[in-house]
Amino acid sequence: MPAGTSPVSQTVTLPEAAALRTFFATGATRGYRFRLEQLNKLKAALLAHEQAINEALYADLRKSPEEVWATELGLLLAEIKHAIRSLKKWMRPKRAGVNLVNLPSTAKIYRDPLGVVFIIAPWNYPLQLALVPLVGAIAGGNCALVKPSELAPATAQLIGEIIAGLFPPEYIACVQGDGAVCVPALMKTFRFDHVFYTGSIPVGRSIYELAASQLVPVTLELGGKSPAIVEADADIALAARRIVLGKFINAGQTCIAPDYVLVEQSKEKELLEQMVGYVQAFYGNDPAVSYDYSKIINTKRFDVLLGYLKDGTIVCGGEHNRENQFIAPTILKEVAPDSPIMRDEIFGPLLPVIRFASRKEAMAMVQQHEHPLAFYLFTKSAVVEAEWVNAIQFGGGCINNTDWHFTNPHLPFGGVGKSGFGAYHGKHTFDTFTRAKPVMKTPGWFDPSIKYPSYKGKLWLFKKLFR
Ligand code: NAD
Repeated sequence: MPAGTSPVSQTVTLPEAAALRTFFATGATRGYRFRLEQLNKLKAALLAHEQAINEALYADLRKSPEEVWATELGLLLAEIKHAIRSLKKWMRPKRAGVNLVNLPSTAKIYRDPLGVVFIIAPWNYPLQLALVPLVGAIAGGNCALVKPSELAPATAQLIGEIIAGLFPPEYIACVQGDGAVCVPALMKTFRFDHVFYTGSIPVGRSIYELAASQLVPVTLELGGKSPAIVEADADIALAARRIVLGKFINAGQTCIAPDYVLVEQSKEKELLEQMVGYVQAFYGNDPAVSYDYSKIINTKRFDVLLGYLKDGTIVCGGEHNRENQFIAPTILKEVAPDSPIMRDEIFGPLLPVIRFASRKEAMAMVQQHEHPLAFYLFTKSAVVEAEWVNAIQFGGGCINNTDWHFTNPHLPFGGVGKSGFGAYHGKHTFDTFTRAKPVMKTPGWFDPSIKYPSYKGKLWLFKKLFR
């Protein structure tokens, strides 16, 4: 397909994507001052657009301004401020050691920009999942093309407006539209230096295939079924409170939300009672009108989620309204481990609670959904904690908490195996958008002849030096 005639959106055409490469090659994006200025500009623009951001996220997901601040804008601003404060230190080449055979050389590791990066974001936290990676791309000295999710159209449009108002399109641009059309079109015709994708496993797989054909490295931030385990010795009220919050925030449309709960059988009744109490305390008698409760993103997702209601006995919730894309916070018990709700990631406000008789049985259930993005354990025992943490491969997790590890910039956030690979947040975002470039410098004053041919008879010396 010739450049410029592909079905790429109205805002970015293929020649403009190529302009990013030309601009990167000028070296303009590499300097410390330049990067700092862009980060400051982005911070100021986001603050200036706070009202518009709140309105867009209300339109797309019915989020309150408080929730927008805690889970989108505030989190994003914290990442920008962290990058602004740390940029000089992050950019500074780091000294590395030198082995005996290379003395008296010195060694340094430079953090090199990757070049032109492609950031593809999902709809569930549509602002921060598009722009936190962009912070790393800017801090790393790259040019970037950002693809917000078309399923959160108000936020996508606003992101496009903010980017267009701040940056020249040859530096940072935004592409809008149907991802299934424009992403493959772009990736087949333009070679990016890195693709940072957040979204579902099936699309992640096809992005990986597209990238592989051009040897483009990728970061894949995917999903999966993340368990919350409640052991018999856990503080049950605390577990109930934190699971309810972690699950029902954003109406369960959170990649790291507890997907299902496994509870030690003697505590099932108490846990269910406590959880029902907290659902009511947090979202009231009628969550449909709750200030704190989001809507389902669209009717297609609504219909999928509704289909899961029959997979268990409803303990609380179940009320729904297709017109408003509302499904109440719903807890299900007596859920068969092989039912549809236990097959794929739920990604909505339905929470199956399954009891277990032994830890071995619980571990086997978790292993059936291998490589969860997140893992949550409620226990007071350090021994039990160590047993679980050592036994299960998961992206990241919490003990006696849910979701909050995501908000700690000192922890790398990312998946493992099927939930993806690569990580970001804080310095890890900068590392993801730069490459460690090692350089060794060797002085001329010491140049022993042993290093040069002929090597005959030097084996004994080589055996001493090279080991
Ligand atoms: P999605 O995969 O449908 O879409 C994500 C992005 O990919 C969008 O920008 C979309 O336009 C684009 N896209 C869609 N189809 C495409 C295709 N065929 N080829 C190329 N690009 C395409 O994901 P989603 O429904 O927006 O997000 C939900 C999933 O994302 C869940 O599985 C959730 O767990 C996961 N998720 C993961 C994280 C994380 O940080 N690991 C965060 C949020 C969501």
